[in-house]
Amino acid sequence: MTKHTVSQPAVATSILNADLHCHSVVSDGTLTPEVLAARAAANGVELWALTDHDEIGGQHRAAAAAKAQGMRYLTGTEISVTFAGETVHIVGLGFDPEDAAMVQGLKSTRGGRNERAREMADGLAKVGITGAYEGALKFVGNPELISRTHFARFLVESGVCSETNEVFRKYLTEGKPGYVPHRWASLRDAVGWITGAKGMAIIAHPARYKFTPNEEYALFIEFKAHGGRGVEVVTGSHSAAEYVKYADTAKEFGLAASRGSDFHSPEESRTDLGTLPFLPGQLTPVWELLADRIQ
Ligand code: AMP
Ligand code: MN
Ligand code: MN
Ligand code: MN
Repeated sequence: MTKHTVSQPAVATSILNADLHCHSVVSDGTLTPEVLAARAAANGVELWALTDHDEIGGQHRAAAAAKAQGMRYLTGTEISVTFAGETVHIVGLGFDPEDAAMVQGLKSTRGGRNERAREMADGLAKVGITGAYEGALKFVGNPELISRTHFARFLVESGVCSETNEVFRKYLTEGKPGYVPHRWASLRDAVGWITGAKGMAIIAHPARYKFTPNEEYALFIEFKAHGGRGVEVVTGSHSAAEYVKYADTAKEFGLAASRGSDFHSPEESRTDLGTLPFLPGQLTPVWELLADRIQ
């Protein structure tokens, strides 16, 4: 009789404490990759990914820290994309961080952040908030990655607003004095860089975009056409009703589902690492399709 060896996928269940979206000081988080890893592990995370905005400079540290904490790891990033006049975020997981086109693509996406930041400061100066560029820089861990979040921290520190959400509402969103429209990567390029580096592209927090139903449909159709394969269903910025809505969307478009807190900072983030509900059943978790990319 032939003996069959059934090979088990490394990680293959939706009941898994996977947290595949968060930020470190390498982008706009306030913790180092090592401190994040320790926090994730303490909260019971089994599979982790650090997904800094437009940046993979923290990947080696994060992978080593995950290993030291006994967690499995997937490489990660969150790429800023302009689609239908709106900024959309595409998470990449399980890619090769040495891939030259990916490295160059992210570098080009980061380019222009500094000039944009100076224009943001000019806009804020016009309403009497001076020194915002220098003020924001004090909060920046990576000089190539000055973001609106760093301006928000400066405006809270200087007492203009009491919390970062208020800063975004009053100063940093469309039509407000510190808002500067910016052209990010194209959807085709971002998905292409990730998949070209053997990773999986995933639409981040879809409920956050101010799209009409037609625009949202176009996003999902084009994303799939370019090779995108996943969507975040359970994420820190979704409500319980939105978990259900985007679970349906994942099924409708044949996309795998991801789960991630989008944790940035103990002081600012509502959702801590590893504390979200599990993925709803009947969805294919992204980590099942990425089993051979898990470290
Ligand atoms: P940027 O890439 O410079 O445009 O900054 C975008 C970042 O700002 C996001 O990744 C969030 O971390 C943060 N952000 C956006 N909207 C808000 C908000 N309403 N409250 C707090 N943080 C926000
Ligand atoms: Mn952020
Ligand atoms: Mn995002
Ligand atoms: Mn994020």
